[in-house]
Amino acid sequence: MSLDINLTTSRSILTRTSGFLATVTSHSLQPYRGCTYGNSLCGVGCYVRHNGLLTRGQQWGSFLDIRTNAADLYRSHVGRERRWAQAQRQGFSIFMSSSTDPYVPQERRHRITRGLLGAMVAEPPDELIVQTHSHLITDDVPLLRELAPQCRLRVHLSIESDQQDLPGLPPPASSIEHRFAAANTLRRAGVRVVITVSPLLPIRDAESFFARIAAAADAVVIDHFIGGDGSPDGRRTARTSLPAAMAQLEPASVTLNYRDAIVDVACRHLPGNVGVSIDGFAGRFLPA
Ligand code: SF4
Repeated sequence: MSLDINLTTSRSILTRTSGFLATVTSHSLQPYRGCTYGNSLCGVGCYVRHNGLLTRGQQWGSFLDIRTNAADLYRSHVGRERRWAQAQRQGFSIFMSSSTDPYVPQERRHRITRGLLGAMVAEPPDELIVQTHSHLITDDVPLLRELAPQCRLRVHLSIESDQQDLPGLPPPASSIEHRFAAANTLRRAGVRVVITVSPLLPIRDAESFFARIAAAADAVVIDHFIGGDGSPDGRRTARTSLPAAMAQLEPASVTLNYRDAIVDVACRHLPGNVGVSIDGFAGRFLPA
């Protein structure tokens, strides 16, 4: 599939959150419009892939707008948005990102996320969650190391399964080995790492998987598409081909009983450091 990649400018970059994301952070931030991981494993069940406002009729994974003025917009609007968050009696917190990945391959050339992190070093939010499916985040370890003491920073690194190749599904954006290596690198740099098993896909050996996560990360979040995709019953994901593919691999995996059994295993390996669903993303189980 050919990629439609455009350099663009935006009028705003800090979006005040609403809906379920508002329980996680005051703002979301998308360095890009679209996501070039849309045809990889995470893209199959990606709950924004059917958002017409976002896709504007284009096929998910086939386009990317590069917001070249993102760092300038952050610098211009950070004061206003911080005051707004404070007026709502909440901290100024940012989720980067909810409808793209800050470390799409094009980041290596355009460095939009890097520019934003640099702007945040100068004017940090109270809290920053960097959510990614890619080991490319380690390119920015120096900036993340600088930010870590200035705000409540945590990196959410998604690893959805212990199986690199899931029959019937495309390969992940970044190998499992690369992502575990990235988690280790980030932690060595003093950055808090949360592995997000999101969406939870069939796991072959849960004991070994969570033992490995316990050695590589500070915490884990387990997020089933039911209750985790922003709809009460998983209907956003039901519009995608993911549930049928999961059922082929492990029929029980499309039920919340499966999630609960996996959570039990995780709790044995990371006692006190297991979050579930949206409360897990919000970090409500984490020590301050
Ligand atoms: S990285 Fe995130 S936004 Fe991009 S396709 Fe995967 S789940 Fe969707």
